[in-house]
Amino acid sequence: MSKFNVLITGSSGMVGQSLQLYVKRYNLHHKNTIDSSPNYYFLTREDCDLTNKAKLREIFKKLKVTFVVHLAAKVGGLYMNMKHNVEMFMENMKINMNVIELCHEFNVNRGVFCLSSCIFPPEPKSFPMKEEYICDSPPHPSNEGYAYSKRMLYIMCKHYNQQYGRDYICVSPVNLYGAYDNFDINNSHVIPGIIHKMYLTKYQEGEYKKDTYEVLGTGKAQRQFLFAMDFACIIFKILWNKDIDKKNMLINICSDKEYTIKQVVQLIAFNLDYDIHNIVYNNKYSDGCIKKTVSNKLFRKFFPDHKFIPLEDGLDATISWFEKNYNKPRFRK
Ligand code: NAP
Repeated sequence: MSKFNVLITGSSGMVGQSLQLYVKRYNLHHKNTIDSSPNYYFLTREDCDLTNKAKLREIFKKLKVTFVVHLAAKVGGLYMNMKHNVEMFMENMKINMNVIELCHEFNVNRGVFCLSSCIFPPEPKSFPMKEEYICDSPPHPSNEGYAYSKRMLYIMCKHYNQQYGRDYICVSPVNLYGAYDNFDINNSHVIPGIIHKMYLTKYQEGEYKKDTYEVLGTGKAQRQFLFAMDFACIIFKILWNKDIDKKNMLINICSDKEYTIKQVVQLIAFNLDYDIHNIVYNNKYSDGCIKKTVSNKLFRKFFPDHKFIPLEDGLDATISWFEKNYNKPRFRK
Protein backbone atom coordinates (compact mmCIF):
# COMPACT_ATOMS: atom_id res chain seq x y z
CA MET A 1 0.00 0.00 0.00
CA SER A 2 1.23 3.48 -0.85
CA LYS A 3 2.20 5.87 1.90
CA PHE A 4 1.21 8.81 -0.28
CA ASN A 5 -2.34 10.11 -0.51
CA VAL A 6 -2.57 13.09 -2.84
CA LEU A 7 -5.63 15.31 -2.71
CA ILE A 8 -6.33 17.39 -5.82
CA THR A 9 -8.85 20.23 -5.54
CA GLY A 10 -10.71 21.75 -8.51
CA SER A 11 -10.79 18.43 -10.33
CA SER A 12 -13.78 19.17 -12.56
CA GLY A 13 -12.02 22.21 -14.06
CA MET A 14 -9.79 22.45 -17.10
CA VAL A 15 -6.51 21.82 -15.29
CA GLY A 16 -8.04 19.28 -12.91
CA GLN A 17 -9.41 17.21 -15.80
CA SER A 18 -6.07 17.41 -17.60
CA LEU A 19 -4.24 16.25 -14.48
CA GLN A 20 -6.62 13.29 -14.08
CA LEU A 21 -5.91 12.22 -17.64
CA TYR A 22 -2.17 12.73 -17.17
CA VAL A 23 -2.12 10.59 -14.00
CA LYS A 24 -4.12 7.82 -15.71
CA ARG A 25 -1.67 7.77 -18.64
CA TYR A 26 1.32 7.88 -16.31
CA ASN A 27 0.00 4.93 -14.31
CA LEU A 28 -0.62 2.96 -17.51
CA HIS A 29 3.01 3.42 -18.51
CA HIS A 30 4.30 2.53 -15.06
CA LYS A 31 2.23 -0.61 -14.44
CA ASN A 32 5.10 -2.48 -12.76
CA THR A 33 5.24 -0.10 -9.85
CA ILE A 34 1.49 0.33 -9.57
CA ASP A 35 1.22 -1.38 -6.14
CA SER A 36 3.34 1.25 -4.48
CA SER A 37 2.13 4.15 -6.59
CA PRO A 38 0.48 7.05 -4.75
CA ASN A 39 -3.28 7.29 -4.32
CA TYR A 40 -4.77 10.30 -6.07
CA TYR A 41 -8.10 11.72 -4.90
CA PHE A 42 -9.65 14.11 -7.37
CA LEU A 43 -12.02 16.31 -5.39
CA THR A 44 -14.90 18.21 -7.04
CA ARG A 45 -17.39 20.71 -5.69
CA GLU A 46 -19.93 17.86 -5.53
CA ASP A 47 -17.68 16.12 -2.99
CA CYS A 48 -17.11 19.29 -1.00
CA ASP A 49 -17.60 23.03 -1.34
CA LEU A 50 -14.18 24.24 -0.23
CA THR A 51 -15.67 27.20 1.60
CA ASN A 52 -17.05 24.60 4.05
CA LYS A 53 -14.11 23.95 6.33
CA ALA A 54 -15.81 21.37 8.55
CA LYS A 55 -16.71 19.20 5.57
CA LEU A 56 -13.23 19.57 4.12
CA ARG A 57 -11.71 18.56 7.46
CA GLU A 58 -13.69 15.30 7.32
CA ILE A 59 -12.22 14.62 3.91
CA PHE A 60 -8.65 15.27 5.03
CA LYS A 61 -9.23 12.94 7.96
CA LYS A 62 -10.88 10.16 5.95
CA LEU A 63 -8.33 10.19 3.16
CA LYS A 64 -5.27 10.63 5.41
CA VAL A 65 -4.01 13.24 3.03
CA THR A 66 -0.21 13.50 2.73
CA PHE A 67 0.20 15.82 -0.29
CA VAL A 68 -2.09 18.45 -1.85
CA VAL A 69 -2.41 19.94 -5.33
CA HIS A 70 -4.62 22.99 -4.93
CA LEU A 71 -6.17 24.02 -8.24
CA ALA A 72 -9.65 25.11 -7.19
CA ALA A 73 -10.44 28.79 -7.58
CA LYS A 74 -13.23 31.06 -8.61
CA VAL A 75 -11.92 31.91 -12.08
CA GLY A 76 -13.37 34.30 -14.64
CA GLY A 77 -12.66 36.45 -17.62
CA LEU A 78 -12.25 40.23 -17.61
CA TYR A 79 -15.98 40.94 -17.15
CA MET A 80 -16.38 38.61 -14.16
CA ASN A 81 -13.27 40.05 -12.52
CA MET A 82 -14.30 43.67 -13.01
CA LYS A 83 -17.90 43.24 -11.89
CA HIS A 84 -17.35 40.80 -9.06
CA ASN A 85 -14.19 41.86 -7.27
CA VAL A 86 -15.82 41.22 -3.88
CA GLU A 87 -16.78 37.62 -4.68
CA MET A 88 -13.50 36.92 -6.45
CA PHE A 89 -11.58 38.07 -3.38
CA MET A 90 -13.79 36.66 -0.59
CA GLU A 91 -14.49 33.25 -2.06
CA ASN A 92 -10.91 32.64 -3.13
CA MET A 93 -9.61 33.80 0.24
CA LYS A 94 -11.96 31.41 2.05
CA ILE A 95 -11.06 28.48 -0.19
CA ASN A 96 -7.32 29.13 0.09
CA MET A 97 -7.36 29.66 3.85
CA ASN A 98 -9.38 26.50 4.44
CA VAL A 99 -7.14 24.38 2.26
CA ILE A 100 -3.87 25.67 3.69
CA GLU A 101 -5.02 25.64 7.33
CA LEU A 102 -6.14 22.03 6.97
CA CYS A 103 -2.88 21.12 5.25
CA HIS A 104 -1.09 22.39 8.32
CA GLU A 105 -3.56 20.79 10.77
CA PHE A 106 -3.07 17.38 9.11
CA ASN A 107 0.67 17.80 8.87
CA VAL A 108 0.74 17.84 5.08
CA ASN A 109 4.35 18.71 4.37
CA ARG A 110 4.26 19.21 0.64
CA GLY A 111 1.82 20.80 -1.76
CA VAL A 112 1.54 22.55 -5.11
CA PHE A 113 -0.60 25.69 -5.08
CA CYS A 114 -1.77 27.43 -8.21
CA LEU A 115 -1.27 31.15 -8.79
CA SER A 116 -1.39 33.00 -12.14
CA SER A 117 0.87 35.34 -14.12
CA CYS A 118 -2.02 37.83 -14.36
CA ILE A 119 -1.56 38.74 -10.69
CA PHE A 120 1.88 40.26 -11.37
CA PRO A 121 2.31 44.07 -11.55
CA PRO A 122 1.02 45.51 -14.83
CA GLU A 123 4.00 47.88 -15.01
CA PRO A 124 6.99 45.93 -13.73
CA LYS A 125 10.50 47.32 -13.43
CA SER A 126 11.63 45.13 -16.33
CA PHE A 127 10.65 42.29 -18.66
CA PRO A 128 10.62 39.35 -18.47
CA MET A 129 9.15 39.39 -14.97
CA LYS A 130 11.01 37.26 -12.46
CA GLU A 131 9.18 35.44 -9.66
CA GLU A 132 10.38 37.94 -7.06
CA TYR A 133 8.50 40.81 -8.76
CA ILE A 134 5.14 39.33 -7.71
CA CYS A 135 4.30 41.86 -4.98
CA ASP A 136 6.43 44.79 -6.20
CA SER A 137 3.41 47.00 -6.93
CA PRO A 138 -0.41 46.62 -7.06
CA PRO A 139 -2.03 44.29 -9.61
CA HIS A 140 -4.08 45.59 -12.51
CA PRO A 141 -7.25 47.30 -11.11
CA SER A 142 -9.53 45.16 -13.32
CA ASN A 143 -8.73 41.97 -11.38
CA GLU A 144 -7.74 43.25 -7.95
CA GLY A 145 -9.99 40.85 -6.03
CA TYR A 146 -8.71 37.71 -7.76
CA ALA A 147 -5.11 38.93 -7.86
CA TYR A 148 -4.86 39.87 -4.20
CA SER A 149 -6.44 36.59 -3.10
CA LYS A 150 -3.80 34.74 -5.14
CA ARG A 151 -1.01 36.96 -3.79
CA MET A 152 -2.25 36.19 -0.27
CA LEU A 153 -2.09 32.47 -1.09
CA TYR A 154 1.56 33.00 -1.99
CA ILE A 155 2.15 34.87 1.30
CA MET A 156 0.43 32.12 3.29
CA CYS A 157 2.58 29.43 1.64
CA LYS A 158 5.72 31.48 2.20
CA HIS A 159 5.07 31.88 5.91
CA TYR A 160 4.02 28.27 6.52
CA ASN A 161 7.28 27.32 4.83
CA GLN A 162 9.34 29.75 6.90
CA GLN A 163 7.66 29.21 10.25
CA TYR A 164 6.77 25.51 10.08
CA GLY A 165 9.27 24.13 7.58
CA ARG A 166 6.68 23.12 4.99
CA ASP A 167 7.39 22.76 1.29
CA TYR A 168 4.35 24.51 -0.15
CA ILE A 169 5.30 25.31 -3.75
CA CYS A 170 3.44 27.95 -5.77
CA VAL A 171 3.25 27.58 -9.54
CA SER A 172 2.34 30.59 -11.64
CA PRO A 173 1.21 29.65 -15.16
CA VAL A 174 0.58 32.08 -18.03
CA ASN A 175 -2.74 32.03 -19.98
CA LEU A 176 -4.02 28.46 -20.02
CA TYR A 177 -6.18 26.86 -22.68
CA GLY A 178 -7.33 23.36 -23.59
CA ALA A 179 -10.13 20.82 -23.34
CA TYR A 180 -12.70 21.46 -20.57
CA ASP A 181 -12.06 25.22 -20.71
CA ASN A 182 -14.83 27.73 -20.08
CA PHE A 183 -16.07 28.80 -23.54
CA ASP A 184 -18.75 31.15 -22.16
CA ILE A 185 -19.00 33.87 -24.79
CA ASN A 186 -19.28 36.69 -22.24
CA ASN A 187 -16.90 35.44 -19.63
CA SER A 188 -14.01 33.45 -21.02
CA HIS A 189 -10.28 33.90 -21.41
CA VAL A 190 -8.76 34.97 -24.70
CA ILE A 191 -8.32 31.65 -26.58
CA PRO A 192 -11.66 29.99 -25.71
CA GLY A 193 -13.38 33.34 -26.36
CA ILE A 194 -11.90 33.69 -29.85
CA ILE A 195 -12.63 30.04 -30.74
CA HIS A 196 -16.26 30.26 -29.69
CA LYS A 197 -17.01 33.63 -31.31
CA MET A 198 -15.30 32.74 -34.57
CA TYR A 199 -17.07 29.39 -34.65
CA LEU A 200 -20.43 31.13 -34.21
CA THR A 201 -19.54 33.74 -36.82
CA LYS A 202 -18.80 31.02 -39.30
CA TYR A 203 -21.38 28.33 -38.60
CA GLN A 204 -24.35 29.52 -36.60
CA GLU A 205 -27.37 31.71 -36.85
CA GLY A 206 -27.81 34.37 -34.17
CA GLU A 207 -26.12 37.31 -32.56
CA TYR A 208 -22.62 36.55 -33.76
CA LYS A 209 -23.59 35.71 -37.33
CA LYS A 210 -21.66 38.37 -39.23
CA ASP A 211 -19.70 38.46 -42.43
CA THR A 212 -16.68 39.71 -40.59
CA TYR A 213 -15.08 38.59 -37.39
CA GLU A 214 -14.24 41.58 -35.20
CA VAL A 215 -11.26 41.52 -32.86
CA LEU A 216 -11.55 44.03 -30.02
CA GLY A 217 -8.27 45.98 -30.10
CA THR A 218 -5.39 46.22 -32.55
CA GLY A 219 -4.26 42.61 -32.13
CA LYS A 220 -0.75 43.87 -31.30
CA ALA A 221 -0.70 42.94 -27.60
CA GLN A 222 1.65 40.06 -26.83
CA ARG A 223 0.80 37.10 -24.64
CA GLN A 224 2.27 33.78 -23.50
CA PHE A 225 0.13 30.64 -23.61
CA LEU A 226 0.31 27.22 -21.99
CA PHE A 227 -1.66 24.13 -22.97
CA ALA A 228 -3.50 22.74 -19.91
CA MET A 229 -2.13 19.22 -20.47
CA ASP A 230 1.40 20.63 -20.51
CA PHE A 231 0.69 22.36 -17.23
CA ALA A 232 -0.73 19.15 -15.74
CA CYS A 233 2.46 17.29 -16.66
CA ILE A 234 4.58 20.06 -15.09
CA ILE A 235 2.52 20.09 -11.87
CA PHE A 236 3.04 16.34 -11.63
CA LYS A 237 6.80 16.67 -12.14
CA ILE A 238 7.07 19.47 -9.57
CA LEU A 239 5.04 17.54 -7.00
CA TRP A 240 7.49 14.63 -7.11
CA ASN A 241 10.72 16.55 -7.63
CA LYS A 242 12.49 16.60 -4.28
CA ASP A 243 14.98 19.21 -5.49
CA ILE A 244 12.15 21.72 -5.54
CA ASP A 245 11.43 22.89 -2.04
CA LYS A 246 10.82 26.02 0.02
CA LYS A 247 14.01 27.63 -1.31
CA ASN A 248 12.33 27.90 -4.72
CA MET A 249 8.74 28.14 -3.62
CA LEU A 250 7.44 30.24 -6.53
CA ILE A 251 7.99 29.12 -10.11
CA ASN A 252 6.69 30.75 -13.28
CA ILE A 253 5.47 28.22 -15.82
CA CYS A 254 5.79 29.21 -19.48
CA SER A 255 7.71 28.46 -22.65
CA ASP A 256 10.04 30.93 -24.39
CA LYS A 257 7.42 31.83 -26.97
CA GLU A 258 5.19 34.84 -27.10
CA TYR A 259 2.44 35.56 -29.62
CA THR A 260 0.55 38.64 -30.67
CA ILE A 261 -3.23 38.37 -30.39
CA LYS A 262 -3.29 38.74 -34.17
CA GLN A 263 -1.15 35.62 -34.57
CA VAL A 264 -3.46 33.69 -32.25
CA VAL A 265 -6.55 34.86 -34.12
CA GLN A 266 -5.00 33.78 -37.42
CA LEU A 267 -3.97 30.37 -36.11
CA ILE A 268 -7.52 29.77 -34.89
CA ALA A 269 -8.91 30.99 -38.23
CA PHE A 270 -6.67 28.53 -40.15
CA ASN A 271 -7.88 25.77 -37.90
CA LEU A 272 -11.58 26.63 -38.24
CA ASP A 273 -11.05 27.25 -41.96
CA TYR A 274 -12.26 30.81 -41.55
CA ASP A 275 -11.15 33.31 -44.19
CA ILE A 276 -8.58 35.63 -42.55
CA HIS A 277 -9.53 38.41 -44.97
CA ASN A 278 -12.83 38.66 -43.09
CA ILE A 279 -11.09 39.52 -39.82
CA VAL A 280 -11.16 43.18 -38.73
CA TYR A 281 -9.34 44.81 -35.83
CA ASN A 282 -11.31 47.46 -33.95
CA ASN A 283 -8.74 49.81 -32.46
CA LYS A 284 -11.41 51.77 -30.57
CA TYR A 285 -11.09 49.04 -27.93
CA SER A 286 -8.15 48.88 -25.54
CA ASP A 287 -5.46 46.23 -26.00
CA GLY A 288 -5.00 45.98 -22.24
CA CYS A 289 -1.34 45.62 -21.25
CA ILE A 290 0.69 45.47 -24.42
CA LYS A 291 3.06 42.98 -22.80
CA LYS A 292 3.01 40.77 -19.69
CA THR A 293 6.05 38.58 -20.32
CA VAL A 294 7.23 36.44 -17.43
CA SER A 295 10.59 34.69 -17.18
CA ASN A 296 11.02 30.90 -17.24
CA LYS A 297 14.65 30.91 -16.14
CA LEU A 298 13.93 29.23 -12.80
CA PHE A 299 11.66 26.64 -14.44
CA ARG A 300 14.44 25.84 -16.94
CA LYS A 301 16.91 25.36 -14.09
CA PHE A 302 14.87 22.38 -12.92
CA PHE A 303 13.51 21.20 -16.27
CA PRO A 304 16.05 22.11 -18.96
CA ASP A 305 14.68 19.49 -21.37
CA HIS A 306 10.94 19.95 -20.99
CA LYS A 307 9.41 20.26 -24.44
CA PHE A 308 6.36 22.49 -24.43
CA ILE A 309 3.44 21.54 -26.64
CA PRO A 310 3.48 24.07 -29.53
CA LEU A 311 0.53 26.46 -29.67
CA GLU A 312 -0.49 25.09 -33.09
CA ASP A 313 -0.81 21.54 -31.70
CA GLY A 314 -2.54 22.68 -28.53
CA LEU A 315 -5.06 24.66 -30.58
CA ASP A 316 -5.71 21.65 -32.83
CA ALA A 317 -6.54 19.51 -29.82
CA THR A 318 -8.60 22.24 -28.15
CA ILE A 319 -10.69 23.03 -31.23
CA SER A 320 -11.32 19.31 -31.91
CA TRP A 321 -12.51 18.92 -28.32
CA PHE A 322 -14.62 22.08 -28.60
CA GLU A 323 -16.37 20.85 -31.77
CA LYS A 324 -16.95 17.37 -30.37
CA ASN A 325 -18.36 18.58 -27.06
CA TYR A 326 -20.24 21.70 -28.10
CA ASN A 327 -23.69 20.24 -27.51
CA LYS A 328 -22.88 18.10 -24.49
CA PRO A 329 -24.59 19.01 -21.19
CA ARG A 330 -21.56 19.99 -19.09
CA PHE A 331 -19.96 22.12 -21.83
CA ARG A 332 -19.44 25.70 -20.52
CA LYS A 333 -20.68 28.19 -23.11
P1 NAP B 1 -11.69 26.12 -13.92
O1 NAP B 1 -11.79 25.29 -15.15
O2 NAP B 1 -12.66 27.22 -13.73
O3 NAP B 1 -11.69 25.17 -12.66
C1 NAP B 1 -11.76 25.68 -11.35
C2 NAP B 1 -12.19 24.57 -10.46
O4 NAP B 1 -12.34 25.06 -9.12
C3 NAP B 1 -13.54 23.95 -10.84
O5 NAP B 1 -13.43 22.55 -10.68
C4 NAP B 1 -14.49 24.55 -9.81
O6 NAP B 1 -15.63 23.77 -9.55
C5 NAP B 1 -13.58 24.58 -8.60
N1 NAP B 1 -14.11 25.44 -7.55
C6 NAP B 1 -14.34 26.79 -7.60
N2 NAP B 1 -14.88 27.20 -6.45
C7 NAP B 1 -15.03 26.10 -5.66
C8 NAP B 1 -15.55 25.87 -4.37
N3 NAP B 1 -16.03 26.88 -3.61
N4 NAP B 1 -15.54 24.61 -3.88
C9 NAP B 1 -15.07 23.58 -4.61
N5 NAP B 1 -14.56 23.73 -5.85
C10 NAP B 1 -14.53 24.97 -6.37
O7 NAP B 1 -10.24 26.76 -13.82
P2 NAP B 1 -8.86 26.24 -14.40
O8 NAP B 1 -8.60 27.01 -15.63
O9 NAP B 1 -8.81 24.75 -14.40
O10 NAP B 1 -7.89 26.81 -13.28
C11 NAP B 1 -7.13 25.99 -12.41
C12 NAP B 1 -6.19 26.88 -11.63
O11 NAP B 1 -5.32 27.58 -12.55
C13 NAP B 1 -6.90 27.97 -10.83
O12 NAP B 1 -6.29 28.08 -9.56
C14 NAP B 1 -6.68 29.24 -11.64
O13 NAP B 1 -6.68 30.38 -10.81
C15 NAP B 1 -5.34 28.97 -12.26
N6 NAP B 1 -5.05 29.68 -13.53
C16 NAP B 1 -5.92 29.59 -14.59
C17 NAP B 1 -5.61 30.24 -15.79
C18 NAP B 1 -6.52 30.15 -17.00
O14 NAP B 1 -6.19 30.78 -18.03
N7 NAP B 1 -7.60 29.39 -16.96
C19 NAP B 1 -4.42 30.97 -15.91
C20 NAP B 1 -3.57 31.04 -14.81
C21 NAP B 1 -3.90 30.38 -13.63
P3 NAP B 1 -17.02 24.09 -10.35
O15 NAP B 1 -16.73 23.62 -11.76
O16 NAP B 1 -18.02 23.27 -9.66
O17 NAP B 1 -17.22 25.57 -10.25
